[in-house]
Amino acid sequence: MSEQDKPWGPATQALRTGHRRTAEREHAEPIFTTSSFVFESAEQAADCFANETGEVNIYSRFTNPTVACFEERLAALEGADRAVATSSGMAAILSVCMAFLNQGDEIVCSRSVFGSTIGLFGRFMARFGISVHFVDLQDLSAWEAACNDKTRLLFAETPSNPLCELADLEALSALAKKRGLRLVVDNCFCTPALQKPLALGADIVVHSATKYLDGQGRMLGGAVVGNDKDMAEVFGVVRTAGPCMSPFNAWVFLKGLETLKLRMQAHSANALKLAQWLQQQPGVAAVHYAGLPEHPQHELAKKQMRDFGGVLSFAMQGGREAAWKLVNATQMLSITANLGDAKTTITHPATTTHARLTPEARAAAGISEGLLRVAVGLEDIEDIQADLARGFSA
Ligand SMILES: *Cc1c(COP(=O)(O)O)cnc(C)c1O
Repeated sequence: MSEQDKPWGPATQALRTGHRRTAEREHAEPIFTTSSFVFESAEQAADCFANETGEVNIYSRFTNPTVACFEERLAALEGADRAVATSSGMAAILSVCMAFLNQGDEIVCSRSVFGSTIGLFGRFMARFGISVHFVDLQDLSAWEAACNDKTRLLFAETPSNPLCELADLEALSALAKKRGLRLVVDNCFCTPALQKPLALGADIVVHSATKYLDGQGRMLGGAVVGNDKDMAEVFGVVRTAGPCMSPFNAWVFLKGLETLKLRMQAHSANALKLAQWLQQQPGVAAVHYAGLPEHPQHELAKKQMRDFGGVLSFAMQGGREAAWKLVNATQMLSITANLGDAKTTITHPATTTHARLTPEARAAAGISEGLLRVAVGLEDIEDIQADLARGFSA
C-alpha cells in the first residue's frame, strides 16, 4: 500500500470519517432535523421501501444522515464494519438482547456490570424466558462452568465499576469461540481510544455514548458495534422497535468524538496522578486503579488497554462516616453518579449506584461502606487534589 492510500489513523477518523458534504459545501457536519425524506416519484418511493438495508433515507427511525455519520465514525474507531446508534446505553444493550436471544436462551454475565444491565437481564429478560448467570469477572473457570447448551451470549464490562477489576478479553473471546457464543463487551469506560475489544476477539461492543463519547455530560445515547451480519440484526430491531438516536444527539456526539483521543489521554493522566496522591493520604485503606503498579492486574491492563482511563475508587478506613465526611467537605467536585464528564464527579457507591443490592451482595461485590468513586475530569490536577484535601484534613 502506498503512503497516500494508508487508512486514516484514529485521530483523523474521529475528525473526518463519515461526513459527506452536501451541495451547500458546509465545513461542520449538518444536523438533519427531519423525521422523513421525500421521493422524486412513486417509482423511487417503491424502490426505497423495497430496500431494508438502511442505505437510503426514508424515515429517521430507520436512518438519518447525521446519525449515520456518527455511526460510521464510531465504527471506524472501533475497527468494525458497522455501528447502530441507539437512544441510550441501555437501549443498546436491550437491542442486542432482542437481536440475538430467544425464549429459553441464557446469558453469562460478569457480576460487576452496570446496575441497570443487571436489572435488565435479571428482572426484565427473565419475563421473556431468558435467564442469566452472574459470575466473577476475573474467574475464567466460573465463566466456563456457567455455560451450557442454552448459552448464547457472554457479557462483560472491563474495567469494572467502581473497583477497576479487569476481564481478560482474549481469554473470554477464546471461550466464546470454543463454544460458538457471542462475546459482548461494554466499552463505555475505555472507549476505542483506550481499548478495542473487537481486535481482542470480542464479537460485539456496546456503548453508553452518554459517558466519554460525549465527554461533557450533555446527552443520552448509545451504540452497538460489530460485523455487518450481526449489525443487520441489531439494525432490524432498532428500526422496528424504535430505540433510535436523535439527530441532534448524534451531532453532539460527533463533536465529542473529535476530541476523544486527547480527552481520554488527559483523563488517564489526571487519574493516575490522583491515584498516586491518594495512596499518600491519611486514612486511605486502598486505592483501586489499574494504572498503579500495585494493581493485581496491572500487567493485563498494560496489555489490553492503551491507557488506564478516568475512573478510580478508594476506600476510607473510617467506613461510611469517613467517606461521607470527605464527600461533604469538597466544594468543587460534583457529587453525582454520572461519569465520563469533563468535570470531576465523586460518588459513594454503597448508598447510590449500589444501594439496591442487599448488604451481603454489596459485601460480596467488594463495595465497602468506606468506598468512594472518583470519575476524574479535566480540571487542573492541583485543584482536584486541593478540593479532596479539604476532606482529608476535616
Ligand atoms: C451509564 C452506563 C450504561 C448505561 O448507559 P445509559 O446511556 O445511561 O443508558 C451502561 N454501561 C455502563 C458501563 C455505563 O456506565
